[in-house]
Amino acid sequence: KSGFVSIIGRPNVGKSTFMNKVLGQKVAIMSDKPQTTRNKIQGVYTKDNSQMIFIDTPGIHKPKHQLGEHMMKVARNTLRETEVILFIINAAEEIGRGDEFIIDMLKNTKTPIILVLNKIDLIHPDDLIKQIEVYKDKLNFSDVVPISALQGNNIDRLLGVIESHL
Ligand code: GDP
Ligand code: MG
Repeated sequence: KSGFVSIIGRPNVGKSTFMNKVLGQKVAIMSDKPQTTRNKIQGVYTKDNSQMIFIDTPGIHKPKHQLGEHMMKVARNTLRETEVILFIINAAEEIGRGDEFIIDMLKNTKTPIILVLNKIDLIHPDDLIKQIEVYKDKLNFSDVVPISALQGNNIDRLLGVIESHL
């Protein structure tokens, strides 16, 4: 099994931390250059018989009026052409405009979307449940996986869920 995985999330939700945890500091290709119009391969994760090619989706959190048409197209194509989308949010913060904008972009996507609630080490379990409800109200997700990218909690479970979509 092999496939492409797009990673979406507003700045500071923990996308790079997640990639580093999965790929290891040495393997991860981290590029935090300002928005470009090209999707970047962040890294390739191989396990047993499966391979996941992680790519970022630049600019997708930006307000529409700031997005050039070409960038919108790149973002939409990325969403369509990957096997699965990881929508990463910061569970320790209230949903914000950046998250809402991404949700709007994802609304008509047929690609399976995994809601990844990151930074669960910072919150009470009751608040995690509330956050899940908030997001589930706004979009249909194929799966919902809480993680701590920093501490490495539940990463294996998330990789298993991704694998199930390849
Ligand atoms: P990105 O902008 O989405 O790539 O976010 P980063 O990976 O750069 O993370 C932003 C900040 O959040 C950094 O200071 C990380 O150390 C922190 N961070 C990321 N994941 C977690 C987590 O699971 N728990 C906590 N407490 N902090 C995290
Ligand atoms: Mg980053």
